[in-house]
Amino acid sequence: MKIRAQIGMVLNLDKCIGCHTCSVTCKNVWTSRDGVEYAWFNNVETKPGIGYPKEWENQDKWNGGWKRNAEGKLEPRQGSRLKILANIFANPNLPEIDDYYEPFTYDYERLQNAPLSETPPTARPISVVTGKKMDKIEWGPNWEDDLGGEFAKRSKDKLFDGVQKEMYGTFENTFMMYLPRLCEHCLNPACVASCPSGSVYKREDDGIVLIDQDKCRGWRMCISGCPYKKIYYNWSSGKAEKCTFCFPRIEAGQPTVCSETCVGRIRYLGVMLYDADQIESAASVADEQDLYESQLGLFLNPHDPKVIEEARKQGIPDSWLEAAKRSPVYKMAMEWKVAFPLHPEYRTLPMVWYIPPLSPIQAAAESGKMGMNGIIPDTRSLRIPVKYLANLLTAGKEAPVVHALDRMLAMRAYMRGKSVDGTENLDVL
Ligand code: SF4
Ligand code: SF4
Repeated sequence: MKIRAQIGMVLNLDKCIGCHTCSVTCKNVWTSRDGVEYAWFNNVETKPGIGYPKEWENQDKWNGGWKRNAEGKLEPRQGSRLKILANIFANPNLPEIDDYYEPFTYDYERLQNAPLSETPPTARPISVVTGKKMDKIEWGPNWEDDLGGEFAKRSKDKLFDGVQKEMYGTFENTFMMYLPRLCEHCLNPACVASCPSGSVYKREDDGIVLIDQDKCRGWRMCISGCPYKKIYYNWSSGKAEKCTFCFPRIEAGQPTVCSETCVGRIRYLGVMLYDADQIESAASVADEQDLYESQLGLFLNPHDPKVIEEARKQGIPDSWLEAAKRSPVYKMAMEWKVAFPLHPEYRTLPMVWYIPPLSPIQAAAESGKMGMNGIIPDTRSLRIPVKYLANLLTAGKEAPVVHALDRMLAMRAYMRGKSVDGTENLDVL
C-alpha cells in the first residue's frame, strides 16, 4: 500500500449565492496579468447552462479525459504520447476565445463625463482583445441567468438527458443553481498524462497539480486533455497556466483565497489519505456508475491507528496526519456521504467535491413526496430533478444523491428544532 496525502475541497452548493466573490478575489491574486484576461481559475456557472468555456462538458467535442485502449487499459483520449506529438501542430480540440468570452471593459470616461441630459449616458463595451468598441455583447459568464426560460428551449445540455422535455419545457418548471468550479487537482490527472513536455506534475506531498513554467513549451495538449477545461493558455508568456490551489498559502497554513473570501462560507478544505497503488484500478472500473464508489474505496480511515502508523512509516508528517483526522472533507465524503465528485465518469478521480443543493425541495418534503426515514421520493416532483444532480455528480446513479438530500433535510429539520438558546425542541420532527 502506497499512502499519500491529498488536499481536497468540498463545496456546499446549497449555500452558494452566485455572488462571484471567489472568482474576483482569485482573479485579483492570480490572473490580473497580460495574456490571461479571459481566464478564470475559479468561475461560477449557472446550471443548467453551457458553462465556461462553452460546452466544456462535451467530451466528444474536446477529446478530454481518459478512454480504454484495445488492451482495456486507460489512456488519455488525446491518444498515445506518440500520437500526441504527431498532433501537436494541428490540435483540433482547443477552445477558442469565443468559447470563453471576449473580455470587455467600458468607456468609463464617457460614462462619467457625459453632460447632464434627460436620459442616462450609454457606455459602449470595449473589447480588451482588439481595443475597439463592440456593437453588442453576445456571450459572457452566466448568460443563462438572463435568458431564463428561453435558454431552456434552446439548450442542448446533455445532462438533461430524459429530463428536459418533461421538466424543463415550460417556464414554471425552470430551475437554476450555481456551480463554482476550479481545477479538481485530480488523483488521476489527464492533464499530466497528455503533456508531451512533462511540465504538468502532481506534487507528492499534498497532491496539488502544477505546471512547471520553465518546462512548458506551450503545446496546449493539457488544455484539450483536461475534461474540466481548467487549464488556460497565456498568449503573452506562451505557457499554460492553471489554479495552483493557492499552494503558497496552503504551505503557510492558510486557506485558498476562494475559500477565505467566500461570502456563503460554502467551501471546506481538508486532507485525505489514500492508497496510490489503487489509482489505476479505481479509475478503470467497467461501469461508470461505479466510479463514485470506487473513488470512495481509495480513501483511508485516518482514525485507524494502523493506517496512521503505516502513513508515518511512509514519511507523511504528523501535522498532515492530524489534519487528516480533523478533515471536514473526510467527514462529508466518507462518514456522512453527502458530498460527491463532479463528473466521476471522466475517470480523473477529481478532488473538489460537491454537496448537492437541497433547496428548494422543502415543499416536496412537506407534501410527503420526499422525506426522512427512507421515504422513497418521487424524484420528478423535486424542483431540481434528482436525475439532473445525479448526471452531474454520480454518473447518473440516483440513490446516493437521494440519500444525501435526505440527510441534509434531516439536519435542517434538526437545526430548526433547536431554539436560539441551544435547547432542543424535537417535536417539530
Ligand atoms: Fe488536471 Fe485540474 Fe484538469 Fe484534473 S481538473 S485534469 S488536475 S487541470
Ligand atoms: Fe458561491 Fe462563495 Fe463564490 Fe459567492 S463566493 S459565488 S457564495 S462559492
